[in-house]
Amino acid sequence: MTNLIQPIRGMNDILPDAIPRWQHLEAVTREVLEAYGYREVRFPVLEKTELFARSLGEVTDIVEKEMYTFVDRNGDSLTLRPEGTAGCVRAGLSNGLLHNQVQRLWYAGPMFRHERPQKGRYRQFHQIGAEAYGLAGPDIDAELIVMSARLWKRLGIAPVTLQINSLGTPETRAGYRQKLVDYLTLHQDKLDEDSKRRLQSNPLRVLDSRDANVQALVRDAPSLADYLDDESRAHFGALRGLLDASGVTYAVNPRLVRGLDYYSRTVFEWSTNRLGAQDAVCSGGRYDGLVAQLGGRPTPAIGFAMGLERLVSLMEEAGVPAPESTPHVYLVRAGTAAEAAGFLLAEKLRDALPRLRLVMDCGGGSFGNQLKRADRSGARIALILGENETKAQRVGFKPLRNSAEQVELPWEEVPSRLAPWLN
Ligand code: ATP
Ligand code: MG
Repeated sequence: MTNLIQPIRGMNDILPDAIPRWQHLEAVTREVLEAYGYREVRFPVLEKTELFARSLGEVTDIVEKEMYTFVDRNGDSLTLRPEGTAGCVRAGLSNGLLHNQVQRLWYAGPMFRHERPQKGRYRQFHQIGAEAYGLAGPDIDAELIVMSARLWKRLGIAPVTLQINSLGTPETRAGYRQKLVDYLTLHQDKLDEDSKRRLQSNPLRVLDSRDANVQALVRDAPSLADYLDDESRAHFGALRGLLDASGVTYAVNPRLVRGLDYYSRTVFEWSTNRLGAQDAVCSGGRYDGLVAQLGGRPTPAIGFAMGLERLVSLMEEAGVPAPESTPHVYLVRAGTAAEAAGFLLAEKLRDALPRLRLVMDCGGGSFGNQLKRADRSGARIALILGENETKAQRVGFKPLRNSAEQVELPWEEVPSRLAPWLN
C-alpha cells in the first residue's frame, strides 16, 4: 500500500455515483445551447503558450502564475488550456470559420489552472462555454444572457444573480485608466500588496480586489460608467432594455471588470450566495479586439464560460434529483444450463428494450447469494432462472422494491411485463 501513487492535488476523480448529475447538467446544457443554434466545437487541451500569453494578457493572474506550462520534446513551450476562448478563436482562425461569417459555437471540457485548491476551486476543473462571432449588436449580448438564465431555470437552480457592466472601448478605458491611477496613487497606503502591484501593471484589476480595505477605497473611486463613449453607452442601454423586456433581473456593477485583458464593452457574471467564497458560476463578456489580436481580421465576438463543478454543487444544494441510473433488472442464473440460457435471454431482452438497464449476475453461487447482490444493485426487478425454469423456458419475475408476489412467466412475455418499469 505504501507504493500507491497519489492523485495530483486539486485534480479530482469524478466517480460513478456522481456521474448522473454531471450527465444531466451536460445534457440539459446541450439542449438549451442547441435550441439557440449554437454548435459544438472541440479543440485540443494543449496549445502553444504564446496563444494564452497573447490573448489573456501578460499581466493577468492566469498568465503570471496559474498556467501549466512545459517544454515538449521538440523544445516548444506548450500550455494546458486555462480557459476555452483563446483555443476557440485559434480553432476558428486555423479553419477559416470566422472571416465574414456568423458563428455560434460551444465547447466543453477540462481546464487547468495552478490555483490554491479549496472547495469550488480546483487545478483541473470543467467548463462549458458559448461564443458568438461576427455579431456586433447588443441583441447577441442579450441572447447569451437570457440563454444562460433559461439554463438555470431548466436546471432548477434559481438563486443565481446577474451583474453586468460595460468596459467601453480600449480608448475610453485608457482615458479612465489614468483617472483611476491618479486616484489610487493618492491612496496608495490603503492598498494591499497585490493591488499595489496591479496599480503598476494592470490598474483596472484593482477594482476586482477581494481585500475589504481596497473594496472600500474603490467604492469612492472614479466610475468607469462616467467615461463611456457614446456608442458603448448606447450599446449598454440597448442591452439593458432587452434584459428588462425579457424579465431577466440584474444589477449594474460599475466595478465588475473581469480578470482578462481581452474584454470590451459588455461584461457579466452570474453568482450565487449558496456556495461560500467560490461564488461565481458563469462569466463572460464581449471581446471585439481578440480575433485581430490573434492575427485574424477584426471580428466582433462575445461569449461566456460556466464552471461545472460549481453548478453540480448548486444542483446538489438545491436538491435537484439526479437521474436514475440503477439497473432496472438483475438477472439471477443458477446451474450450467440456466447460465447459458440466461446469457442469451439477457441479449434478447436488450434487443427488445433498448433503454433497459439489465445487469447479469456473473458471480455464481446460490440463489440466496445472487439475490443479495440483486438487492444491493438497486435493481427494481430480479429475473430468476434455475434448472426447472430453463427446461420450461420460463423465468421467475420478482419485484424487489415492493411487496408484490413473485410470478413465473414464459420468456416471450418478459419484454411486455418489463416495459412499464422502464422510466
Ligand atoms: P473566480 O473569480 O472564481 O476565480 P474566474 O473569474 O477566474 O472565477 P472565469 O475564468 O471567468 O472565472 O471562468 C468561468 C467560470 O469557471 C467561473 O465562473 C467558475 O465557475 C469556473 N472556475 C474558474 N476557475 C475555477 C477553478 N479553479 N475551479 C473550479 N471552477 C472554476
Ligand atoms: Mg479566477
